[in-house]
Amino acid sequence: MSTPTRAVTIPACEQHDGYSAITVTLPWICLECGGPRGEPSEGISYDGSRRLHVHTWNNPCGHVEKYSAVRKSIGIPA
Ligand SMILES: [Zn+2]
Repeated sequence: MSTPTRAVTIPACEQHDGYSAITVTLPWICLECGGPRGEPSEGISYDGSRRLHVHTWNNPCGHVEKYSAVRKSIGIPA
């Protein structure tokens, strides 16, 4: 059985200024426990000054994953 993947849009960096988004294909498992992630839905990231349309998800396991941790997991500097 292969790991499921999802293509999602996330902030490219912490201070995204409302436009720095990247679309990436991720192994769709929780970084904390390896369990399945919840389905992605449209959401908003607020960097303190501007809003960015991104995907968000809630994991059935209850772990909350930060975008910075997700970026790190695919080799993008936080
Ligand atoms: Zn988890």
